[in-house]
Amino acid sequence: MEKKSILILSPHPDDAAYSLGASLACRNSDRHITVLNVFSKQDYSILNIKHEEALKQILIEEQAVSLCLRYNAMFCDLPEARLRGYKRLREIIGGTKEPWKQSSEHYWIEAVRKEILSALDSNKPSIVLAPLGVKHVDHILLAYVIKQMWSELHARKIRLFFFEDLPYCIDEQAKIEVLNILSQEGFVLKPKNIISDSLNDKVRALKVYHSQSKERDIVKIIEYGKPMGISISERIWLVSRPTDETKSTGKGNIYDDY
Ligand SMILES: [Zn+2]
Repeated sequence: MEKKSILILSPHPDDAAYSLGASLACRNSDRHITVLNVFSKQDYSILNIKHEEALKQILIEEQAVSLCLRYNAMFCDLPEARLRGYKRLREIIGGTKEPWKQSSEHYWIEAVRKEILSALDSNKPSIVLAPLGVKHVDHILLAYVIKQMWSELHARKIRLFFFEDLPYCIDEQAKIEVLNILSQEGFVLKPKNIISDSLNDKVRALKVYHSQSKERDIVKIIEYGKPMGISISERIWLVSRPTDETKSTGKGNIYDDY
C-alpha cells in the first residue's frame, strides 16, 4: 500500500511556514508532506535587491525552510498578483474580494486548477490543506479554486482543511467575513486547534525569509496563537458539506491523527 501523504497548498513560498510552521515542526508522524507553492514567481522583497535577484531569493529561502520543517517544496512558477497586473497594494491586499470576476484571471484560475490536479495525481494525498483565503488576492483566488474542486476532492476521498492565513487572519473581522461566506456557500467548518510546543522552531524558520519579513512581523504572527490558549499555536478548519459522511476525530496534531 502507498504511504499516505498530505498536500499543503501555499499561495506563496512562505505561507505554509507562516500559517502552519509550528504544526509542521512538532509533528512526530513520518507522513510525507508536500508544499505546493502556487504563485511562486514573485519579485516582492523588503531588501533593496534587483528583480531577478528577488525572484531567486525567495525560492532559496523556501528551500532552506523546507529542510528545517521537513517537507518537500514544489513550485508552480505561476506569477503572483503584481506580476499579473495588480498595480497597487490596496488592490492586492484587502481591496479585491472577487478576483474571479475579472476575465484576465480566468486563464490563471485554470492554470492553478491544473497544477492542483497534477499534484493530486502525483502525491495521492489523503489530506489537503488550503488557505481560508483572507485579504490577499492570491490567497482568495487559491481558496476559490479549491472550493470549485470540492466534488473532485470528495470523489477521491480526500479530507480538506482550511488553514488560517497568517498574517492576514490577525484581522479578525476579515477572517470572520470569510468564514461567514463559506457558511453561506454551504460549507460546514469545524475548528481544530493545533497544540504545539514548537513555536521556537517556527520563529527560526520564519527568520530564514529575510527577504519577506521583519522581526516585528514574526512577533505578530507568533502572538496570534497566544489568546487561543496555552501551547495552542495555529488553527485549521475541517471542511464538510451536510451530505458528506466526513467527521472530525478528537484532538491533537492533524499530522498524527490520520
Ligand atoms: Zn501569501
